Amino acid sequence: MTKPVILTGIRSNEEPTLGNYLGSILPMVDMQHRLAGDYQINMFVPDLHSFTTPVDHDKLFLSTIQNVKYFMAAGLDVDDPDTYVYRQSYISAHSELTWILDCFTYMGEMSRMTQFKEKSADTGESVSIGLFNYPVLMAADILLYHATHVPVGHDQFQHLEITRDIATRFNNRFGEIFTVPDSTSKQMEFINRDNGLRIRSLTDPTKKMSKSATDEKSKILLVDDPEIARRKIMSATTDSVGVINYDWDNQPGVTNLLQLLALMTHRDQADINSQWVGHTHYGELKTAVADAVSEFLINFQSRLEEIRDEQVLAALETSEDAVRRVADNTLYQVQQAVGLRPRE
Ligand code: ATP
Ligand code: MG
Repeated sequence: MTKPVILTGIRSNEEPTLGNYLGSILPMVDMQHRLAGDYQINMFVPDLHSFTTPVDHDKLFLSTIQNVKYFMAAGLDVDDPDTYVYRQSYISAHSELTWILDCFTYMGEMSRMTQFKEKSADTGESVSIGLFNYPVLMAADILLYHATHVPVGHDQFQHLEITRDIATRFNNRFGEIFTVPDSTSKQMEFINRDNGLRIRSLTDPTKKMSKSATDEKSKILLVDDPEIARRKIMSATTDSVGVINYDWDNQPGVTNLLQLLALMTHRDQADINSQWVGHTHYGELKTAVADAVSEFLINFQSRLEEIRDEQVLAALETSEDAVRRVADNTLYQVQQAVGLRPRE
């Protein structure tokens, strides 16, 4: 494994929405199609991360398999020789390295993590040490594979920076063991994954569509019955202007529909706008979007159904066997450095 390594997680405990598909799943699949060959792509299911906040443990195992299926149905090629799709918990080096790195990470720097502060504010007393510690697990996820390219969203920038700090500190003390991942600004240059695309909620188009939203009508799930999805679109909140305009500030509801129509039909936004802007019948626009979305769901779900659990498991296990060797090798070097193993 000598190609530069791109590392990305495919976490999702809840059912993904059309927003997640267009804003995250599809761009990751596109990344594979563009960059495999020149890069090694590690896509891992962060199953150990998944219960830093409460999850349904009865469903966790199958939902990790289901996650991978969503990517496959979106076009991810799990047989590509440069792509490794694996579960974090199946490579024990992730947990082992986390412990070692914990002892070289300071309470002070970890206490500054904004995401911990925000997430723990909601949970109060019952916040777990896992939630506090998870940036160190993330550092292990990255450092075990010498990944330089870690395309993360803004919410993970601090965690990537702490990974760089931990790696640099360790290397200064013990020699060049870790590859320090590129800075967040370089990551942004490398891949514009979070390209600003935001699908809006169908019931409150001033907000984005979110999978954790409790209002079922606000979101289209990838597993929604196409007829139900159609009804959600038909009842989407618009406005009382009475004329269709592409105007996020004043008419976010119809603008969201115009955007969805362009994305779902693979047409340019300008092309869609020239067809619809100025029209007065919102219902016709809704019907067009509902048709496009339900057709997409029918096709996506039929691809999903064709993917068997055994096929996913076989792909995961093949990758896991390959990456485990790399991870164990890095872990061994670290164990030697800290004096847990003989230094030859
Ligand atoms: P939650 O409500 O739990 O925050 P979410 O739907 O916002 O769920 P995340 O897990 O926060 O999803 O984000 C997963 C990925 O999906 C991120 O890359 C994020 O940028 C993308 N994403 C989330 N919502 C949208 C959306 N409405 N439109 C486009 N992309 C989105
Ligand atoms: Mg979110």
